[in-house]
Amino acid sequence: LLHSNRSASHCMLGKYADAKEDAEIAIRIRPSWGKGFYRKGEALLGLRDYEEAIRCYEECLERDPTSPDARVGIANAAIKLEDARSGLFIRQILVGRDIASGRSLSPIQSRINEAATSMRNFIYLIGDRDTKKCVLIDACWDVNGLLKIVKQEGYELVGLIVTHHHFDHVGGVPPPPYDQFRIRVPGLASLMKKFPALTGYVHPEDIPRLKPDNPTLPLNRIIPTSDNFVLRLGERTILRFLHTPGHTPGSQCVLLNERRLISGDTLFLGCCGRLDLPGADRDSMWSSLQRLSEELDAETIIYPGHEYGGEWSTVGEERLAGALRP
Ligand SMILES: [Zn+2]
Repeated sequence: LLHSNRSASHCMLGKYADAKEDAEIAIRIRPSWGKGFYRKGEALLGLRDYEEAIRCYEECLERDPTSPDARVGIANAAIKLEDARSGLFIRQILVGRDIASGRSLSPIQSRINEAATSMRNFIYLIGDRDTKKCVLIDACWDVNGLLKIVKQEGYELVGLIVTHHHFDHVGGVPPPPYDQFRIRVPGLASLMKKFPALTGYVHPEDIPRLKPDNPTLPLNRIIPTSDNFVLRLGERTILRFLHTPGHTPGSQCVLLNERRLISGDTLFLGCCGRLDLPGADRDSMWSSLQRLSEELDAETIIYPGHEYGGEWSTVGEERLAGALRP
């Protein structure tokens, strides 16, 4: 039990090799115990050895057939394995955990990190494994933290995609009621200033809404992305933009290789985005959700713009119990 718990805490700290070692000791001590195999599966998932991870989760299920965690583990590893084989790289970055976390030496960044932790935004690094080119979707909160991740993963940043104009997705000064944070969130404008060749991709309806909170934004480098706009990161990695108004007039989702949907604040696990903020429209949201439900396969993985009770879902699940119900 000690080794199993220590393995879990190594996993939380990102020390996956140590986690694997502890899990293996736990398995040696009690080979009949499912949990040891589950821990090893989690460590292998962290080490990105997806096939071995699936094998471990299956060993866990053989000993403990009801383990819901092992089933989730298999699903997680299967998604990553499929992505790896198709040349697609997705890294889901949780703001307040993976970046913009804890206390910073700068008191301003500390206050930003505090706000970030309460907002629970997801930022996505989408890359092509062949060309090593990547884009960030809704890059903000902690510019240096994001650039560190891009570098660690070995990708070249070639673009910034915005799902919609809200400050927690592009940066800028938060409007009420978020002005209580008394911060300016770094994001799109700071990244574009830092990299003079970088382009942004924003739906035309949301472009004018960016400017008031981000006065330094170079609009000449913002590409208006209308419905069905296509961006290629390589021969095998195709991003298709879907205009899904409702949460904001220019909200857009990004469909990766027709199998993964970055849904911004349009679609969350079990619900849709807020409709009480300025510019929101209930009827447009309804049509957007209908469209997503009709156009996408049930197996399509949905990656939302905030961590509200989970990391991903599927179109099939959201049709049954979420905002894609007919
Ligand atoms: Zn929003």
